[in-house]
Amino acid sequence: MMIMSRDVVMERVQNLVRYFVCRRLSGDLIRLKAMYDYFVNNLSPSEIAGKYGIHKTVVSGMVRRVIELAGKEWIARWVLRILYRRLLGVDPIVVVVKSMRGSTYYCLICSKAVRDPFIHVRTKHKDIVGGVLRAVLDGVRV
Ligand SMILES: [Zn+2]
Repeated sequence: MMIMSRDVVMERVQNLVRYFVCRRLSGDLIRLKAMYDYFVNNLSPSEIAGKYGIHKTVVSGMVRRVIELAGKEWIARWVLRILYRRLLGVDPIVVVVKSMRGSTYYCLICSKAVRDPFIHVRTKHKDIVGGVLRAVLDGVRV
């Protein structure tokens, strides 16, 4: 069996944490909670779907994406177990503004409406993402 080097594991941990940081900064809380329920609390996709009012296939899609980023399921489980609280504490920089015409995403840094908050945060606020990523990973050793 191939032993994964520490650098490779750390790179995958960073990939996954960066993803959750971007999701939290863009105001997405459900994804983090749903993935914690899946990987740490061992709930099934249908239980999670019922709990958060989302479709089961959406939950399965989230799980696939997380495993893809982490490379291994145990890395995803480890990240969520160790860093869930810190990720939960990340303050969003995008908020949802509701009006009679529907919901709009508004970036507090740019002071403007944005179409896709996740893409916006990932591409336009790399400095903030990097800073939060370092804070979340502070003191973490693999
Ligand atoms: Zn912005």
